[in-house]
Amino acid sequence: MNARRIGAIGAAVALAIGLSACGSDDGGETGTGSGGDSTTSGKKLKIGIKFDQPGLGLKKGTEVSGFDVDIAKYVAKELGTAEGDIEWVQAPSPQRETLISTGQVDMIFATYSITDARKEKVTFAGPYFIAGQDLLVRSDDASITGPDALTGKKLCSVKGSTSAQKVKDKYPGVQLQEFATYSECLPALGTGGVDALTTDDTILAGYAAQEEFKGKFKVVGQPFSEEKYGVGLKKGDVETCTKVNDALKKAFTDGAWQKAIDDNLGPANYKPGPGNPPTPAECV
Ligand code: GLU
Repeated sequence: MNARRIGAIGAAVALAIGLSACGSDDGGETGTGSGGDSTTSGKKLKIGIKFDQPGLGLKKGTEVSGFDVDIAKYVAKELGTAEGDIEWVQAPSPQRETLISTGQVDMIFATYSITDARKEKVTFAGPYFIAGQDLLVRSDDASITGPDALTGKKLCSVKGSTSAQKVKDKYPGVQLQEFATYSECLPALGTGGVDALTTDDTILAGYAAQEEFKGKFKVVGQPFSEEKYGVGLKKGDVETCTKVNDALKKAFTDGAWQKAIDDNLGPANYKPGPGNPPTPAECV
């Protein structure tokens, strides 16, 4: 069995998945995580996360949660920012480079794969996790066993993601529909409007484990890419990059990284694949 094979059966958290596609959280809701330091200095560190990916980056009411959120909080603390001084900003896949380059966010922790094309616009710290691209299908669909079985099928993914790009490059026979967020694909998958959703196995495991989708969807479990999650920073900010890398290395050794995995990906029964935790690359 594949090491990353995902059991869709796990203790699920009943969550309403926010479907809002874009825009920043400028409602002044800051320091929204549970616990932690709520003192504020007035100067906010703006961190871009996903708002609709359970287990990774999720905003429910005023609460944010997920693996990316926990790693971001840890790194912020190491950099001297209390939890109450973090402003969480929604960072949908197509907008991440722009959010960084325009200064709308200071850093991004949003299932953000390090790629050569993105490195032209963004400096990446990390990686802090390695995921793999996979497929989410209806539980009763035995026909889709991997990406090679997608020819002629309708596939949903997200604009500006490595997931959509991979399909365009490698599987041209697939009918690809690109939305702004992955959660927008879920109703279409449920009703048969699309046959599969493709993105990182982490994200798919989080959706499959949701109470509302229990028994409806399954992750195929045949990862076909390597997605190295980096921390997006302003292009050329080697100083912050180095500090973030130091914080990440500390999280790998002091148990914080493992706890963030167990707390957030454990409920979806997701097991990190080989190479985790990864070694951060030198900042350039
Ligand atoms: N990790 C991939 C990417 O950065 C897919 C997930 C996402 O879109 O956030 O494009």
